[in-house]
Amino acid sequence: MPICQTDLPLDWYQEEFRPYAEEYLALPDRMPGTVLPWMDRYLQPALDHFGERLLLLAHYYMGGEIVKLVEHYGGRIADSYELALQARSHEQADYIIESAVHFMAESIATLAHPHQEVFITNPRSGCTMEMWSKEHHIAPVFEDLRDRFGDDMIVITYMNTSGRVKALAGATGGAVCTSGNAKVIMEWALAQGKRIFFVPDRHLGEVACWWTGVPPEQQFQWGGGVEGMQMRVDALAPDDLARLDAARVILWGSYCGVHTVFKPEMTDYWRERGYRVLVHPECPLDVVQAADGAGSTKFLWQAMLDAQPGDKLAIATEGHFVRNARDQAALRGVDVMHMADIPDGDSMGCGCATMSRNDPPHLVALVDLLMQGKAPDQNRVQVGDVVDEISGVRERLTSTEQEAVREHARLALQRMVDVTEAART
Ligand code: SF4
Repeated sequence: MPICQTDLPLDWYQEEFRPYAEEYLALPDRMPGTVLPWMDRYLQPALDHFGERLLLLAHYYMGGEIVKLVEHYGGRIADSYELALQARSHEQADYIIESAVHFMAESIATLAHPHQEVFITNPRSGCTMEMWSKEHHIAPVFEDLRDRFGDDMIVITYMNTSGRVKALAGATGGAVCTSGNAKVIMEWALAQGKRIFFVPDRHLGEVACWWTGVPPEQQFQWGGGVEGMQMRVDALAPDDLARLDAARVILWGSYCGVHTVFKPEMTDYWRERGYRVLVHPECPLDVVQAADGAGSTKFLWQAMLDAQPGDKLAIATEGHFVRNARDQAALRGVDVMHMADIPDGDSMGCGCATMSRNDPPHLVALVDLLMQGKAPDQNRVQVGDVVDEISGVRERLTSTEQEAVREHARLALQRMVDVTEAART
């Protein structure tokens, strides 16, 4: 199978990485027989040099076969929850190199041991949902809401947020959640009898409300991105203000473009053809309600592994993940289809384009430069960094400020772990 990722233009690589990108772009094709020997030349000496002190990580959604390449070189593939725990569980790793998006790398850095350094192969890899939910968007709205509701409000943040936004959750007594534990965390938050400001995914928030029995009239849909940042409680129309006051859950209005292409009608198409329909809860609520099951990336992967020969699954999530699942399933006679892949459909399923900016030259360059002691600071991930995903430049806090963010973000992450584990027992 080819390394079927569109080549990035040379000027998309940071200066230190360009010599590696030039070599890669000059290779005659993108077949493993060509790409692997080129990667081996750089990665094998580094792997021999670092041994267990180097940990390579990638998310399931990575395109361009990076998932298979990272596995090939002894790395680990996981969803965002498990990625966040990798530094903690691999204490022997001094250097952790992540091929995914920034918020995932920052979560790893938040939970890392003090001696561990975390890097991202391409700092321009951001999550669009997170990019419309940065601290400068959320904080003024939070202050406005707190002026109205006082301490009677806690913040629940999805994993797809920066460390600074997670710290806001921690400081209010709130928690982080993932697509795998959103129901449990929402139940825990509701049981406290406080108002919940759910950030940033409006769809996951609506799904979690549906799972926990919070009706639409007890939800208030805030805006997202700049529109959300500019909304003010004082400027709401009287009817909207009454709805806000009645709301148990206030939903920030960001979303994932990859997961909002799916439509309820697609579930009918596949079910009529004998497929079981499984979806990710970042999909719109009506899609989740129409599906046979919904859950995290891990849940979807496990469903594929558990399927029996002859089973047919239509999966609604990121395109690279579904393609990898399809390849794996085909080996056991299980048919997996991408749910948006229907004839005459008006939406095409797609991969996470920003995450897939981590390509082989980025991985090779970073590992080789790290071995030379020249890893660029732009790729170093520290808690509280604010990254400009266009330029890749990061604004960094002082170490004292970092500690404050880390402390509160860890609190929110730890509450998630504690509540999730308690619910399992
Ligand atoms: S698939 Fe969507 S939510 Fe996930 S990292 Fe990409 S943009 Fe963000």
